[in-house]
Amino acid sequence: MAWALFLLAMLLGLTAVSRADSLLGATGYKMAGDATRMRIVMSFDREPDIKWFLLRSPNRLVVDLPRTRFAISAKDVKPRGLVQAVRYGDQGDGSRLILTGKGPFAIDKLDVLKNDDGSGYRIAIDMSAASEREFDQALANQALTTGSTVSTDKGGRVGTGPISNPGHRFTVVIDPGHGGVDGGAESAAGTVEKNVTLAFAAELRDRLAAVGKYDVFMTRDSDEYLRLDDRVRIARQHEADLLISIHADTINVRGLRGATVYTLSDKASDPEAQALADRENLSDQFAGMVIKDDNKEVTDILIDLIRRETHSFSMSFAHTLVGQLSTSVGLINNPQRSAGFKVLKAPDVPSVLVELGYLSNAKDEAQLLNADWRGKAAQSITNAVALFATAKTAARAGG
Ligand code: ZN
Repeated sequence: MAWALFLLAMLLGLTAVSRADSLLGATGYKMAGDATRMRIVMSFDREPDIKWFLLRSPNRLVVDLPRTRFAISAKDVKPRGLVQAVRYGDQGDGSRLILTGKGPFAIDKLDVLKNDDGSGYRIAIDMSAASEREFDQALANQALTTGSTVSTDKGGRVGTGPISNPGHRFTVVIDPGHGGVDGGAESAAGTVEKNVTLAFAAELRDRLAAVGKYDVFMTRDSDEYLRLDDRVRIARQHEADLLISIHADTINVRGLRGATVYTLSDKASDPEAQALADRENLSDQFAGMVIKDDNKEVTDILIDLIRRETHSFSMSFAHTLVGQLSTSVGLINNPQRSAGFKVLKAPDVPSVLVELGYLSNAKDEAQLLNADWRGKAAQSITNAVALFATAKTAARAGG
């Protein structure tokens, strides 16, 4: 009898143990990237059976899991980059992971993968900043599939913007450099770069808007601090055809003056361009935490192709811009240069950085503060945008 009770207890005990064990175990969480692209990995002790879908207002990714025991450190789920909030817990008879985006995003990939060392499984999510339209399209697509089961591979969503969007007008995002705690350069007389760039950007916005053919946005229209990757995110979320970042820095050669147009390059065109890019990239330090550049690891062939096309568009706009500026404002020697500016790194948005002149030069400073000069320079940029928009639209139609 005692033996039978013991056996029963054993069985009950085993049942209890196997109950607890039947919970899926989430054993880790990692998030890397910035405000334009993120990779999120959640690890499990065994293969999770999942469903995922999108929700809007705010833009969210929901991953439905079987009932899960989460052994995840609070530090690892601290929001960063494109992800504004990470939540997880029980929901009905299952569990849920909810990622809230900083604005709309695209799920480029979501896979359940077996760990190479055989220690379990992981969900790997690649997401990137996208426009509200692209997010809505993904929502509509998921409504067409049965329930909320969505195919796992959404690759190819990046960069399809203007081609698949007939209502899209040529869109320019103007980025006034610096802002808020990041004042940028300062002249001996106390002129601060962030104010010069904002005043110029507003002038340029008005001139471009007056053409009546473009949608024009600014990354900031007040004295606010923005991380560099947030500037890129804003351009992507507007499906920009062009990002123009405006700057007016200082250099320790007082006599040097004139405008320069920069494009992105892994290898700087000259030491001065490299030094400038290093200074500009320091802007992120004002955010209090420097996120290391994870975007270098992007090997996706599609992205690579888009990047190449984008780069040639950036070069062609820079060339046109130098030509137009040369008719109205002074340029430095070799005015078309390149270096690794973080703000120019959108894979699918042609981007240039314009140094209007040097605050370290008294004549340049006087011009930058002069409304007539600003109008002339802004008009030259507007003319360059018009030439570029015509050429790019023709290239798109032809391709
Ligand atoms: Zn600057």
